[in-house]
Amino acid sequence: MSETRRQLARDARWAAHEGREGIARRQRDRLVDLVAYARASSPYYRELYRKLPEPVEDPALLPVTVRPTLMARFDDWVTDGEVTRSEVESFVADPGLVGHRFLGRYLVATTSGTSGVRGLFLLDERSAAMDTALRSRASGLLGVGDAIRLLARGGRTAIVTAPGGHFSTVAATARFQLDHPSLGRRMRVFSIRQPLPELVDELNRFKPAVLSGFLGMLTILAGEQEAGRLRIRPALVVPGGETLTTDAARRLGAFGAKVRAAYAATECSFLAVGCPHGWYHINSDWAVVEPVGADHRPTPPGELSHTVLLSNLANRVQPILRYDLGDSVVLRPDQCPCGSVFPAVRMQGRAADLLSFPAAHGEPVAMSPMLFGTLLDRLPGIGQFQLVQTAPSTLRVRLRSTAPTDAGPGTVTRTGTGTGTGTDQGWHTVRDEISSLLAEHNVNDITLERADEPPQREPGGKFRRVIPLTEPKWLPQEGL
Ligand SMILES: [Zn+2]
Repeated sequence: MSETRRQLARDARWAAHEGREGIARRQRDRLVDLVAYARASSPYYRELYRKLPEPVEDPALLPVTVRPTLMARFDDWVTDGEVTRSEVESFVADPGLVGHRFLGRYLVATTSGTSGVRGLFLLDERSAAMDTALRSRASGLLGVGDAIRLLARGGRTAIVTAPGGHFSTVAATARFQLDHPSLGRRMRVFSIRQPLPELVDELNRFKPAVLSGFLGMLTILAGEQEAGRLRIRPALVVPGGETLTTDAARRLGAFGAKVRAAYAATECSFLAVGCPHGWYHINSDWAVVEPVGADHRPTPPGELSHTVLLSNLANRVQPILRYDLGDSVVLRPDQCPCGSVFPAVRMQGRAADLLSFPAAHGEPVAMSPMLFGTLLDRLPGIGQFQLVQTAPSTLRVRLRSTAPTDAGPGTVTRTGTGTGTGTDQGWHTVRDEISSLLAEHNVNDITLERADEPPQREPGGKFRRVIPLTEPKWLPQEGL
């Protein structure tokens, strides 16, 4: 069955118009289809689901899946027999192929994400089209005045991120530019690795109507805007990657723009969209999000979950079904005042763990954990890292040299056992890279300690790559 982008966009609007019943029907039908497809085409799911009834209409019947196991069983997990992990690994090792289609049909995105095990994800055409289809539904939230401001600026979009890798935002942007060369010129990726004054200068010249990027980086740019060095007037600011706190939202106010935070994962790029009341509405016609406790039983609305189980109903090549995403969320128990018929959540797992360092002169320097993540993910031989700020000017670096790839079915690496804590060569590379990143941000005199211990999980089982000295202020309760 081939579905055009237009059909997908039309169905997305109908779903919203029909309300909860229409959305639930679509979700159920699509789950039945995807489970049947996974059983027929993925050896991993055929084995995992062999005792389940047919059809499966209730996601709660499905066993939970975790990234380490799926990655270890990669070749059995995918539903396309021509896809192998080794060939995808070779593909992502070539930076010249960012945004190109693997085997001529799949977009490839990589992440090391919050679970600490590097992910390799393939998106088929329908899943890639879903972003646009669902965005057309969400863009209704913008008023006419905003639309005019967007048009007046030629609709230029600036994406502030870490280029040079196959991370999902970069790969998706490159794909769009290859498919639509003329529209593609209106989108540009700006590197977070360049010195801040250069980035500010480039943005001033580009004059974006839409500014998107990692939240931590956007709040730093908001400071530049406030100081008058950055002078852009975007109509829309789209922070991603981390939970938007009320504090961060207030700082983004410097742009005088609508702020629409996105809640996404490489496993499901179209997962949810932020609303003006500070909630994230799940696109539940194409995704199932189940907030659950540590025992995988449902967490009641209004209470903070241990994790969420995600099913992406659009992507068939690499089915994500009841997958432990690792985020703690609160499901809103009542109707959101914005009027959306889609379920509303807030996350805690991804609170922006901004690292704050003392500066020789003036205000402390805040750095996003994403800066360190995108830097260290590129280094060969580093399977996992964790930075712990043990004193205002001290970062303790925990390393694991290679990712655990030998995890069998059902095993999750909970503690730092197995591989070593990094070679001397690996440590020197990491130390030099972190030092130059800090210097680029005018952070000096930081002590980098090499830890004897490997990266650790928190008592609740969560893994955080960057642990600041003081806990971030989360808990936004009122509208933004
Ligand atoms: Zn809302």
